[in-house]
Order: sequence, then C-alpha cells, then structure tokens
Amino acid sequence: MEQRPEDGFIRAVTLDDGREVEGDLFVDCSGFRSLLLGEALGVRFEDWGRWLPCDAAFAVQSRNRPGDAPAPFTRVTARSAGWQWGIPLRHRAGNGLVFSSAHLSDDQVLAELMPHLLGDPLTEPRRIPFRPGRRAQAWSRNCVAIGLSAGFLEPLESTSIALIETGVARLKQLFPDRRFAPAVIDEYNDQSAREMERVRDFIILHYKLNRRTDSAFWRDCREMTVPDTLQRKIDLWTARGEFVRYRWEMFHPASWLAIYDGFGVHPDDYDPAVDAMTPADLERGLRDMRDNIARLVASTPDHAQYLAALDRGQAA
Ligand SMILES: Cc1cc2nc3c(=O)[nH]c(=O)nc-3n(C[C@H](O)[C@H](O)[C@H](O)COP(=O)(O)OP(=O)(O)OC[C@H]3O[C@@H](n4cnc5c(N)ncnc54)[C@H](O)[C@@H]3O)c2cc1C
Repeated sequence: MEQRPEDGFIRAVTLDDGREVEGDLFVDCSGFRSLLLGEALGVRFEDWGRWLPCDAAFAVQSRNRPGDAPAPFTRVTARSAGWQWGIPLRHRAGNGLVFSSAHLSDDQVLAELMPHLLGDPLTEPRRIPFRPGRRAQAWSRNCVAIGLSAGFLEPLESTSIALIETGVARLKQLFPDRRFAPAVIDEYNDQSAREMERVRDFIILHYKLNRRTDSAFWRDCREMTVPDTLQRKIDLWTARGEFVRYRWEMFHPASWLAIYDGFGVHPDDYDPAVDAMTPADLERGLRDMRDNIARLVASTPDHAQYLAALDRGQAA
C-alpha cells in the first residue's frame, strides 16, 4: 500500500500478483485484520473487553436428525462462562460456545459445548479468538472500514451483518467527492460510533441483569460498572418504565422489554399519563392486541410448511 506524502491518503494498493490498484476512495473489508484502516493508517482500536468479557468462541457443525421438524429460531443457552448457540439450517446445524478465556480453559469449554450439540458433530470444533471493540474512527482520510475491519461485537444478537448493511447505506448517503470534506467524514464517524455503542449497550444488558450465582463469570458480570449511556437507560426504565431511544438505535423498545422482563427487572413506578386511561380502556387495548396477534398466527404457515412452499417456489 502506498500513501500520498502530502496528506497520508492512500494512493494505491498492491495485490499479491503485483498489480497496483489506484483509487480515490478505499473500502477496507479485510475483516479482523483491518489492513488499511488499522494497520496502514494506524487508527486506534477501542477495546470494550471491560464490559464484554467473552473473547473467543468454539464453532462446530452438526448433522440434522432425520425426521426432526426444523426449529424456526436460534437457541441461545447460558453456560458457566458464556453462552452456547444452536442455529438450525436445512442441511445441517451450526453450534458454538462464546466464552471468556479468563474464566474457562479450552478443555472446559469443549466439555460444556459438545454434549449439547443439535446433532452428531460433522466437523472438528474450531477456535475463533476475538476482541470486542471498534476502531476509533470508521473513516480516516480516504479509507472507510466496513464490517469486522471497523469493529466486532460478539454474535449474541447477530448484529454484524446488519452493521455491514447500515455501514454501506451510510456510505451511500454520505458518499464523498474528491475533496473529502471533513464534515462528511465526521458525520459518518459519529453515526457509526453511536450506532455501534447502542448495540454494545444492548448486549451488555444481557450480562449485567443476569441473576446467576453459580459461577464467578456471571457474578463478575452482574457487578461490573456499565457505560453511562446504558446506566441511564436502566435507571429510566426502573424509575418509570421509560424506554430511551437515542439516535441510531438498532434495537426497538420491544427488544429491551424482552430482556428487562425476562430477567424480572420491572419499573418501580409508571408514567403518570397512564392514569388518564381507564382500566376498561387498557383491557380493551390489550385484548385487541392479543386478538390481532392470534389472527396473524392462525393465518401464518408453520416453519416446515413455509420451507416446503419455498422449495416449490410458492412462498410469499
Ligand atoms: C462464530 C461467529 C458467528 C457469527 N454469527 C453471526 C450472525 O449470526 N449474524 C451476523 O450478522 N453475523 C455473525 N457473525 C459475524 C459475520 O460472520 C461477520 O461479521 C462477517 O462475515 C464479517 O464480514 P467481513 O467482510 O467484515 O469480514 P470477513 O468475512 O472476515 O472477510 C474479510 C476478508 O478479507 C480477506 N483478507 C484479509 N486480509 C487480506 C489480504 N491481505 N489480502 C486479501 N484479502 C484479505 C479475508 O481473506 C476475508 O475473505 C458471526 C461471526 C462469528 C465468528
């Protein structure tokens, strides 16, 4: 890679076969390595390990059991120092365990993972180390990092591909001309940083609210100090059931509610505006909501029917 001496912009990259590719704008899609933004331009990595202690995963594929109906969801199960995923696909299943290497040895992880696969193993378990966090700027000079080269969050809420999509959409929206106006770069960086911090906070919430007492990992997670942005949300929720929505939020109130309620964290009080509603109105509103959901569910094919229709090219 060659930089322009006058401003450090990337002038060209050299491929393995010796070809040189010049460009005005470079998109770094080199994964964890962050070849252009991190290695060449030296943009600092902000480490979020103090809030997200998991730093590795073991992944292993398994064979589907003949005759089993395909589950329409990914199952996530807490383990002693992390969590296990099971992702059913039509031809096989993906399994893995995300864990904190400070709390569990590789042998201990495999002993927790392997008895709980969705079927017989098809591959050897593969260890994937990672570091949670992000590059301090996703865009520096004439280089924009998209995907893992911009940062990584563990796949507890499967957000990486969504973050790639929003990164591409944002770049399209703020596509530069050759002047590379600093205001455009700042805006891109600000939006990217805020969006990723919001996702980070939502993932931290899963750890912070846990009530397990059977391992040091879960106790440490419960006792950690969370980022101010998240603490503020938790405080407003417990004060009166308020959902704070900042700019660039990927997760909606329904997702936050699922986590608060799932862990039994309920508000101490409620919005006084609720007192303006009669109990009968409230009951009617909830009944309508229940009825609408039931109607929709009744008219929806189940997962196996949907997949079969997909095979026939008839799925809506
Ligand atoms: C265990 C696990 C589970 C995941 N689950 C989900 C999920 O459920 N949902 C979700 O949204 N995301 C998930 N992800 C994340 C998702 O897979 C990644 O975010 C996505 O694949 C990253 O794409 P990328 O293009 O940024 O990086 P990569 O896919 O890593 O691509 C980087 C590419 O750059 C190439 N490269 C690097 N250096 C060079 C070089 N010097 N020259 C040429 N090429 C180079 C590499 O060969 C590679 O092909 C998961 C990730 C892991 C590890």
